[in-house]
Amino acid sequence: MNHLHNIPNYTGGKFIAPNSGQYLENFEPATGQIYSYIPDSDENDVNQAVLAAQKAFPMWSSMSNEDRSAWMIKIADKIEERLEEFAAAESKDNGKPITLAASMDIPRAISNFKFFAHALTQFSSESHYMQGVGVNYTLRQPLGVVGCISPWNLPLYLLTWKIAPALAAGNTVVCKPSEVTPYTAYLLSEICQEIGLPEGVLNFVHGLGPKVGEAMCVHSDIVAISFTGGTATGKRIASVAAPMFKKLSLELGGKNPNIIFSDCNYDEMISSTVRSSFSNQGQICLCGSRIFVERSIYKKFKTDFVEKVSKLHVGDPKDEKTKTGAVVSEAHMNKVLSYIELAKSEGGQILSGGHRVLLAGRCANGWFISPTVIEGLSFDCRTNQEEIFGPVVTITPFDTEEEVLMFANSTQYGLSATIWTENLSRAHRMAEKLHSGIVWINCWLVRDLRTPFGGVKASGVGREGGMEALHFFTEAKNVCIKY
Ligand code: NAD
Repeated sequence: MNHLHNIPNYTGGKFIAPNSGQYLENFEPATGQIYSYIPDSDENDVNQAVLAAQKAFPMWSSMSNEDRSAWMIKIADKIEERLEEFAAAESKDNGKPITLAASMDIPRAISNFKFFAHALTQFSSESHYMQGVGVNYTLRQPLGVVGCISPWNLPLYLLTWKIAPALAAGNTVVCKPSEVTPYTAYLLSEICQEIGLPEGVLNFVHGLGPKVGEAMCVHSDIVAISFTGGTATGKRIASVAAPMFKKLSLELGGKNPNIIFSDCNYDEMISSTVRSSFSNQGQICLCGSRIFVERSIYKKFKTDFVEKVSKLHVGDPKDEKTKTGAVVSEAHMNKVLSYIELAKSEGGQILSGGHRVLLAGRCANGWFISPTVIEGLSFDCRTNQEEIFGPVVTITPFDTEEEVLMFANSTQYGLSATIWTENLSRAHRMAEKLHSGIVWINCWLVRDLRTPFGGVKASGVGREGGMEALHFFTEAKNVCIKY
């Protein structure tokens, strides 16, 4: 037994150790030190959680919408009461600046619960009237036990983005947070127990993807999987779950273009582009990692952008002045650094950053990378085609709309795209032709939770958000009545 905190699983309303008795190390990225242990769970733990969720389903699914909504508001309120504690935990677990966790991650987790708590009281289904014949109406019924699997980059934010609509729609849930960032999910399970959420409604099984995640995907009593993570993992999940005819929502990788025309609002563009490139150390699936700039302003953009990026303060995520924290793990740091080497070998010139940052004091062994800007690469080289998912962007000049559309649409991915122009017709024309699920015009990461969220091509299948999520987590049944 160790002296550090062992995070438990949460199943059937109880905190329990994994059946294996084994634990995995959990690191603080800013220090490179182990600070807690998480259950190395396996299929036995998943089976136990599914049984608890099945037992809870009849009660939860038949509860009135108002009562289910009230439970979700209670969860949101409790997170809000403990916002600072949650933000500190998210920052410690993930390496992100505490100010970002406090202003984005945790508030958004609260909003996710509130939004779907309200949405469920407004949820209605369709009816199709057949003149002189009869009427059809659609029943939208909960699915049963559903599985939610989330990644490490926005840990609580993305986990709750799945849990909240799943619960709102009347399902019971088995969830598996990322093994890299399990801590705020554990705090959420504490809240479930504290408020007395009926046991088995929401269950947390911690552990590795191939063991716990895969056991969920092949479990015959988990009828739907909502997954966010890498494209390779999504492919694996589809290959095991699709033959079982499970409902699948897959939110996968991205390599998003940020397209800048010379007629844009320059000041707004440049400050947003710094954010869209390096927020959360570039570890947001929506970050614009390929920046295409119209040739007439390319030189000016390059000078101004590099100047701003070089001023981003890389530091201890605990420090409120820090804009760039640690990347999430040593393995991820090495992956990102290897892409910087690849970029150099492909002929890229590093204009800013390009290396690991070694800090002093408590962060001496932390995993930090300086925000990196690269130019001189072709649109179709590996650096510009593969997802790096770190503080690395490339800048490339373009001459025409047609050319930049070709650059933008050239990858296997299609999650989001950003366009900067004051020309309204061009903005709409481009939005129509971009291969992506989300287009931001003259902004980035402006979110309305009612809108469909997701990607095309290798960025995923299905949409989250608003009614799309409530539709995913319910089964539509048509009832036809003849006069
Ligand atoms: P990952 O695919 O390695 O892991 C995601 C989750 O899947 C983790 O909980 C992991 O344990 C689990 N998992 C791994 N193997 C599994 C398996 N065989 N079966 C079931 N579950 C398994 O991804 P990551 O490294 O945690 O996250 C980074 C990736 O997530 C990036 O590619 C990023 O673009 C993507 N992402 C996408 C979105 C989006 O909305 N499209 C949002 C955030 C992150």
